[in-house]
Order: sequence, then C-alpha cells, then structure tokens
Amino acid sequence: MTTQVRTITTETACIFCRIVRKEAPASILYEDDKVLAFLDIRPLNQGHTLVIPKQHYETIYDMPEDLVCHIYKTVKRFAVVLKNATKADGITIIQQNGHAAGQEVFHLHVHVVPRYEGQKLPHFRDIPNTSREQLEQVAGEIRQQLQ
Ligand code: AMP
Ligand code: ZN
Repeated sequence: MTTQVRTITTETACIFCRIVRKEAPASILYEDDKVLAFLDIRPLNQGHTLVIPKQHYETIYDMPEDLVCHIYKTVKRFAVVLKNATKADGITIIQQNGHAAGQEVFHLHVHVVPRYEGQKLPHFRDIPNTSREQLEQVAGEIRQQLQ
C-alpha cells in the first residue's frame, strides 16, 4: 500500500506568503513584481538563497511557464552573484516538489546554494537555524554584488 502525504497551506498561513507581504521577517536580497529572493534561515552555507514567486503556487506542476522562466532568470542571476560574493567552488540549484521529494514549505521555492569542494549535501531539515544578525551581515555583502 502506498501512503500519500498531501499538505495544503492557505495563503494566510503560508510562511513565504507572509514574507512576501512583509508580515514575517526575512533577509530580502531582491524583489520585483513577480519574484522575491531572500536568505534561507537554515543555510547549508552562507549565502544559501531561496527564490520564490510572489504568488502562491505549491509546486512547479501548477505554475504558468512564463513565471517558471522568470523565476529561473532570477535563479541564474543569483548563481553568478552568490558564486562571486561567497567565493564558492560551485553552486547547487534544487527545487523540491511534494513531500516525497523532500518539500517542507508548500510555496514553490528554488534553493541556490554555494558549495565547496569535499562537502556532502545534507538534508535541509538537518541544518540548524542561524541568527537574523548573521543573515543580515551576509545579506549586506550579497546586496553589494547585486548593484
Ligand atoms: P524545502 O525542504 O525545499 O521545502 O525547503 C524549505 C526551506 O525553507 C528550508 O531550507 C528552510 O530552512 C527554509 N525556511 C523555512 N522557513 C523559513 C523562513 N521563515 N525564512 C527563511 N527560510 C525559511
Ligand atoms: Zn505561499
């Protein structure tokens, strides 16, 4: 028997919608009318960024293709900016759809993660929270690269 796990989050309760509406704190790096980029609160490495659509879509299955393109244009820009800002050896780009794929927050997001030689990729849920102060320090360095 297969067990289906389905999680539905309303836009009112969704933590990423609350960040978009500026009701919840976030270290925001970039925004336009459709997309928001901010630092992950549990970074694998300094600079670990999430790129999200401002509109609430749970997964890539539901999203219009032009919005997917716009999100990935921003992802591409952050891959370059983060590589320069963090002196990373590589950049991992991950986007998880559904509980079985490891998705924990059901508002689509793309992880853009600085990586270093020899470092294994742990599961994101095993990484501890970091302080807002530390996130803001890193955000300041990245914002300079964005100018
Ligand atoms: P996923 O497993 O792909 O759904 O990843 C969800 C990510 O969202 C994890 O890496 C969390 O650390 C991150 N996250 C959850 N809540 C917040 C928040 N309030 N601010 C920033 N990142 C968050
Ligand atoms: Zn949402």
